[in-house]
Amino acid sequence: MQAQLKCIQGACGATYSIDDVLYTCPRCGGLLEASYPGLSLDPPSVKRLWRERRMSNLALDQSGVWRYRELLPFLDFERDCVATLREGNTPLLPAPQAAHYAGMQSLVFKHQGYNPTGSFKDNGMTCGASQGLHLKMGRVACVSTGNTSASMAAYAAVAGMTPIIFLPHGNISFGKLAQALEYGALTLQVEANFDQILALVRVLAERTGIYLLNSMNPFRLEGQKTIMVEMLDQRDWHVPDWVVVPGGNLGNVSAFGKGLRELLALGCIDRLPKLAVVQADGSAPLHDYFHSKERGEFRPVTNPETLATAIRIGDPVSWPKALFEIENSGGTVERVTEQEIADAKAIIGRCGIGCEPASAATLAGLKKLVAAGTIQPGQDVVAVLTGHVLKDPDYIYRYHTGQLKTPSGAAIASTYGNAPQVVPNDPDRIAAVLEESLGGRA
Ligand SMILES: *Cc1c(COP(=O)(O)O)cnc(C)c1O
Ligand SMILES: [Zn+2]
Repeated sequence: MQAQLKCIQGACGATYSIDDVLYTCPRCGGLLEASYPGLSLDPPSVKRLWRERRMSNLALDQSGVWRYRELLPFLDFERDCVATLREGNTPLLPAPQAAHYAGMQSLVFKHQGYNPTGSFKDNGMTCGASQGLHLKMGRVACVSTGNTSASMAAYAAVAGMTPIIFLPHGNISFGKLAQALEYGALTLQVEANFDQILALVRVLAERTGIYLLNSMNPFRLEGQKTIMVEMLDQRDWHVPDWVVVPGGNLGNVSAFGKGLRELLALGCIDRLPKLAVVQADGSAPLHDYFHSKERGEFRPVTNPETLATAIRIGDPVSWPKALFEIENSGGTVERVTEQEIADAKAIIGRCGIGCEPASAATLAGLKKLVAAGTIQPGQDVVAVLTGHVLKDPDYIYRYHTGQLKTPSGAAIASTYGNAPQVVPNDPDRIAAVLEESLGGRA
């Protein structure tokens, strides 16, 4: 078995050394993926091994990514070091109220917000940063104002590499940027837009030997594919009917599809779940392409808008991979409004679970897919919550106090609002407020 980088463009299919520093195919410009021709495992014994590792105190075993390292043979585990913060290990949480909201009999969330920096980016970043270590890179960089920069900063720091974050000047999301600053990233605000900065950074990376941990880095997706492996391990390899996930750059769904196909080919599962991707209305290029009559060219959204900033992506890097995986699984793409995201998010909160806005697109999308008859109420669905509830507290406060507005300024109804109330320092009046607010409730 020889790990290699392979161009996903069918007509090209060029292969490169796993240790080449490449982000796209030099021959055709297509996306690359890690590929392991000839990889074979004995499913019963590897499943037993993976289960046993949960009781181990070894760092590699405690990571919910590297525990499945037989599926990540781009590193040599005898010689390579990995950068781990014990990522993964995220729970499956049954959520009856959310199921009811979506019109389902039951529903389980796989909550990736339980990761070290609060999003699934950690599952990928542990692999990307470890490959950076393997390549002896001293510096890593990404262009992002969000969870990618928070995660990259943490993993670079733990690996002893220097994290460099490029972001558009004046376009900052403070919650996530705060993490990057705290983890010690050199943060450069460039006077240019996102796409210009991306081009700039690619030139800089080549000239100055910086390793890019952007969305096109194929090793990040290797880590993210283990989200599906861990989910199946947690379900004793019982395959759900559907996996629902929000889509921005579409790396996550691409990684899920790859991981599931590999498990099927290795004989660890006997069928694929269908993949459903949910995009925000103002940022739904894959949805529109997927459902268009004659596909033609993929048309990016020029000015993507949504309050769910983690999926505010107009020109998703991984759309060709995502399209292949969704179609291969028999899945679909849905789109949801700002109001639908906000209300679904409040419902997930009331389950005691909570998530950031982008994650709530899953429940909003599921509700629509059930209403449309695409998903049946009795089917077995796992919805992936991608980020932690505290990533965006400003959004939460505005929603519950009736101040949330869409990017174009329209009011978002506080359907499940829960505003704080000011009360006087007076037990009688507080008792009256309790009676009025709670009525007969215990
Ligand atoms: C990055 C991110 C997404 C989007 O994932 P893609 O792989 O870009 O489709 C969704 N939710 C959260 C919380 C994220 O951080
Ligand atoms: Zn190619």
